[in-house]
Amino acid sequence: MNIEAACGTCNRTFLLEQIGPESDDPGRCPFCGTRFGRHYTTVLDEAVNDAEDAGRRFVSALGRLQGMETGFEIDVDGVVENIAEQVRAHERKAAS
Ligand SMILES: [Zn+2]
Repeated sequence: MNIEAACGTCNRTFLLEQIGPESDDPGRCPFCGTRFGRHYTTVLDEAVNDAEDAGRRFVSALGRLQGMETGFEIDVDGVVENIAEQVRAHERKAAS
């Protein structure tokens, strides 16, 4: 799953895969060159990959359920809302 982020320095939006190990300048903003996660350089890559993989796995797991004739319908809007809520709760914790 492609995850977008905004640079805290130049505010431009990029995909997390653009700062991954296969990018031109790993761990840096593709626009202004700011180094991200200065204190986490060794784990940043892994954390980015984890987040993207987890997103892909999550979507595929739900897709698998949706592909079955279960007799129920997944509340996709509710899922998205719930995820947004939980991710934002993390954001608030990180900021405080
Ligand atoms: Zn930037």
